[in-house]
Amino acid sequence: MPDDIGFPLGMWTSLYWDLSPEDALRRLAERGWKYVDLSCEHLGELTRAEDPGRADGVRELAESLGMTLWQCHGFMDLNLASSNERTRSRSEATLAQHLRLAAELGIGTVVIHPGWVGSRARRSAKPDLVRERMTESLRRLALVAEESGVRIAVENMMKKGFGVEPADLVALAQATDPQWVGICFDTSHANASEVDSAEGIRTCGEWLFALHLSDNDGSGDQHRPPYFGTVDWPTVLGALREVRFPGPLTFEVPYLSRWPRPVREGVFGFIEVAMQHAAAPDENTRTEQQGLKDAGRDACAPGEHRSREAPRPGSAGPCLKRGPVRGFQRAP
Ligand SMILES: [Zn+2]
Repeated sequence: MPDDIGFPLGMWTSLYWDLSPEDALRRLAERGWKYVDLSCEHLGELTRAEDPGRADGVRELAESLGMTLWQCHGFMDLNLASSNERTRSRSEATLAQHLRLAAELGIGTVVIHPGWVGSRARRSAKPDLVRERMTESLRRLALVAEESGVRIAVENMMKKGFGVEPADLVALAQATDPQWVGICFDTSHANASEVDSAEGIRTCGEWLFALHLSDNDGSGDQHRPPYFGTVDWPTVLGALREVRFPGPLTFEVPYLSRWPRPVREGVFGFIEVAMQHAAAPDENTRTEQQGLKDAGRDACAPGEHRSREAPRPGSAGPCLKRGPVRGFQRAP
């Protein structure tokens, strides 16, 4: 693990969706990656575990491997803003259960998505109502967080609605309990919502509890490895240094999930080099990165394909033949 990045590196365990949480931890530790984001499916497996000692076993395993379970991902269907009171109180109960399980596992932060009103697909509806309900629910849950010693981080989401702007989440932390409620900043969601990641991180400031790092070309939520998109990684690392983020650079890259496991594991070395490069970019690198960013924006501009022959399924599209952007492919 390189030590010239300035931050330790962390990985979400869903990279090993096909392994048990215990085996996922062993594989990560073998590769020198010792900061962990326990993903939804592994948290779910431990929530449903019939063996009451399993959580203790996972905590002891992590300790024996010298690992830090920095964060975990709460269930995606939690909705603290639901108009259905039963759904909302069930979501509160599930998050309380996550916090208590996280305490047993030795996890420091539970990440959740903001709630929504109406359909999940249309998160933009009634942002003020979402804010009001999230505030009420998180005031109650902050007490459980304090009791468990586990923090709650609300993640920035995509496009429109409550929680897209990091400032929404700072206000939420301030209105609830900023010691126990903070933010998980997701670079893929920000980049696809025209929120500059470095600016967003600065806005989160001291309320930044956790990261979900990945890349995209701006056209959608693709969660690719760094430099497979248009996120400006040197400025992201610069902003993290500025706000003195105390945690790991945690990667959440489901783009890799369909790859065979040995190929997926190639991403560790790739990310190490990418982050070393981002931590100390020279002038040439900055120019190249800006060139790629401009080419990517240009190549993937909405409507680009309409004026040309439609790309064959699976092809990168005609616009990609023009510049040094072979790495760009539309998400499947
Ligand atoms: Zn995320």
